[in-house]
Order: sequence, then structure tokens, then C-alpha cells
Amino acid sequence: MGLMTGKEYIESIRKLDLNVYMLGEKIENVVDDPILRPSLNSVKATYELAEKPEYEDLMTTKSILTGNKINRFTHLHKNTDDLIKKVKMQRLLGQNTASCFQRCVGMDSFNSLFSTTYEIDQKHNTKYHENFKSFMEYVQEKDLTVDGAMTDPKGDRSLPPNKQEDKDLFLRVVERRKDGVVIRGAKVHQTGITNSHEVLVMPTIAMREDDKDYAISFAVPTDSDGITIIVGRQSCDTRKREKNADIDVGNRNYGGTEALVIFEDVFVPNDRIFLNGETEFAGMLIERFAGYHRQSYGGCKVGVGDVLIGSAALITEYNGITKASHIKDKLIEMCHLNETLYACGIACSAEGYQTKAGNYQIDLLLANVCKQNVTRFPYEIARLAEDIAGGLMVTLPSQKDYENPVTGKYMEKYLKGANGVPAIKRMKVFRLIENLTLGTAAVGYRTESMHGAGSPQAQRIMIGRQANIEQKKELAKAIANIED
Ligand code: SF4
Ligand code: FE
Repeated sequence: MGLMTGKEYIESIRKLDLNVYMLGEKIENVVDDPILRPSLNSVKATYELAEKPEYEDLMTTKSILTGNKINRFTHLHKNTDDLIKKVKMQRLLGQNTASCFQRCVGMDSFNSLFSTTYEIDQKHNTKYHENFKSFMEYVQEKDLTVDGAMTDPKGDRSLPPNKQEDKDLFLRVVERRKDGVVIRGAKVHQTGITNSHEVLVMPTIAMREDDKDYAISFAVPTDSDGITIIVGRQSCDTRKREKNADIDVGNRNYGGTEALVIFEDVFVPNDRIFLNGETEFAGMLIERFAGYHRQSYGGCKVGVGDVLIGSAALITEYNGITKASHIKDKLIEMCHLNETLYACGIACSAEGYQTKAGNYQIDLLLANVCKQNVTRFPYEIARLAEDIAGGLMVTLPSQKDYENPVTGKYMEKYLKGANGVPAIKRMKVFRLIENLTLGTAAVGYRTESMHGAGSPQAQRIMIGRQANIEQKKELAKAIANIED
């Protein structure tokens, strides 16, 4: 079939029979729901940009499996140049959507499973790599969006999966059949699941021998029997359902969704299983996935950051304060922080290496440094944007008040900016900054910067492991002439 157009993608999601709940209601039409549609549009952008000739090199590539042209979001990276292009593509998408465009979790799962299944097969003589390659060919050929699902609810964090009082708090195999397995459990924070054709499940923590039933990885269609999706609330989400609130929404075309996903006795056929009981490989899979996704943040968050910096610069212009030296300095600081994140994303890509399976893995130390910075810098960029914007971004009356003839004339008179800038322009920028720092996009830009791809402590553990402090001690000893 080859590449899907944006339009075809939307229609392909319409055909799914997803079991979705939101704000206490069953959502029959996911595609046209005003709260969900902006997040669907963000994924659609990954198809639309691939249609544009100017982005062909960034958005599309040749499959290492079939040699066919594919969307880069379904690619198995074949060299460091691919890893770099991945980050650049994510920055581009962030700039175009100012939100989480959701398709990277699948891409990062593909690459970590491709290399891990190869190594499991080598040790255990299993067929996971073959299974996974067939699945990948299907995904590439149909140009599908796949949701990578990793995080389990985890219950009592001090206990391993098999010691939990409720055994379902980590997703597990509840029945083994000749033709496959039956799965029960849940995954939390599922980015873009309502916009995905398939869900690719992986374990969430390294496991011990007695956690065998929990060491499971597989892919099934998102509308499989037994899957229930409960969409998460986001700050200001119901503004999207209001009439005449396009401006109040801040970013009316794009957004992101996160959901709690329940797997209630879902059947998985044998050829869709990529790990089943080989507990010692759970850690490898997670480490590789986390590495790729920490690299990803050096692209997507930077692209969204570009929009936030642009918004801050615009409001300074509308407010007539572009010449103030402290404002110039704050904008420079925002750029410095944003480009530092990008530098980390590019660096961990440039230092990538080939796995035994043949695809390319990022440098783990630098990817973790990248994500550790992401847990901090977007907060500082957001703080500076709020500083520059001033209080109106949270005290501004609504679009409906602006359209009411009684109140609208006052807003026009008292909220206009410098050099004849009309109130409406300032309102639009204030609402965009509000959206990015406190509204629906803040899920993807702020809190996800903290916790997405692993909370800060997870990166510090990896940095501690990868940094090779012993070697640094030897360096110091050599310079100081210390002999043991
Ligand atoms: Fe992609 Fe960033 Fe969203 Fe993750 S948070 S899915 S990397 S856009
Ligand atoms: Fe994420």
C-alpha cells in the first residue's frame, strides 16, 4: 500500500471499533470529538508532512527490511545519520503542532524490540525476531501508527510484580494456550492510543526469575476484544467543547491525548509475541526503549520550545518592549536552554552504535543527560515566557466577552497593544502561552518533560551506571602522580 495520506489516516482510524470512555461517557465517534480531534490532527501531521516534497528526506526513508519507501516513524535506524534525522524530524513536528504528536513511542519501541528480540533468539533459540520482523513489515507497508505501551500501574512500588496483593497491577499472562496467550492488566499514560492502529506492549521494569508471567511483549490491534481506553483529563480540556472558544483554547488545531488502558483477558496469537518469560531480557528492552525515548525529547520538546519562545518574542513586540535589554536577555536565555536540549539530542544520535541485529542504538549516557536536562529546562523556558507575558495570560476575559458588543468594545480599547496592535492579536498569543504552560499542551510540554520517558531519578541511575567514574579516578591519579 505504501505511504498513507493524512486524509487516509483519519479514515483508517474512523474504521476502528475502539472502546473509549471520556468524562464519564462512552465515545462512539473518536475522530470527530472536539476534545480528541486536535490530538488526532497532531498524528495526522506525521502523515501530511511526509507528503511534502521539501520534507521527503526527513520524513521518509527506505525500509531496511523491504527496500520500500516508508514513513520515518516506522523506520529501523540503519546508521547515525538516521538517528540524527529522527531528532530533526521530531523538532519539525513539534514546531508544526506545538504539542505531542504521539507517534514516536511506537518508533522507539520498534527499534528497541528489533535489537532485543534478535539477542533473545540467539540465546534461547526462540522465534521472536522473525515474529517481530513480520509485524514490522506489516506496519511499514500499511504505514500504521503504533502505540508503545510500557508503564504498568505498579501498585506497591516496594514489591516486585509477583508479590503484589492484586496480581493484575503489572500486566501478565493469565492463560497459556497452544495458539497464544491471554493477557490481563493495564497500562497507564498511554500516549495517543485513541489515534493508533496497534498497541505494542512491553514490560515496565527489570524482572527476576519468578516474574515469568510478567515478562511479556506483544502487539495487538487497538480495537481488540477486551481493551478499554479511559482518556485522561487535561487542564482546560472542556474549553474545546465550548462554542466560540477557538481563541480561548490557545491551540485549536493540535493537542495530545493520554489514557489509562485496560487489557481484560485479551488474546494474543503466537506470531504476535516478542518476549514470553525470558525475564533476563526485560531490563535490556526497557533500557534501550528508554534510551531512544530520552533521545526523542531532544527533538520534540525543542520544537514545542521554539513555538513558546516565538510566542514570548511576539508578545514583547505587541507590548512595545522589544528594546528593553532584560527582555532581550531573557529571550536569549530561552534560546540557549532550548538549543542545549537539541545539542544533547543530536549528540546522543551522532555517538550511536550498531546493535547485533544491525539497527542503530543511541549513546545511552548522552541520551540520559539529554532527558535529565529536559526535566529542567522547559520549566525554566516556561517560567521566562510567563515572566515576559505578564499576568494577562491568566486574567484575560473570554472570547465570548470579546464578541459581546457591550464588553467587546472595552476589551478592544483597554487591551490593545503598542503601535496599534489590536487586542485580538494579544489575546491569541496570551492564550497560546497559557496553553503551552498551563493548558492542555502543558501535559506534553511541562509535566511530560518531567515524567515522560522516565522520571528524573531514572536518568540519574543510568548516568551513574554509564559515566565510568572509576576511569575518571584513574585520570586524576595519573595527573597527580599517585601510585597505588
Ligand atoms: Fe513523541 Fe515527544 Fe510525544 Fe514522546 S512526548 S510521543 S517523543 S512528541
Ligand atoms: Fe512521551
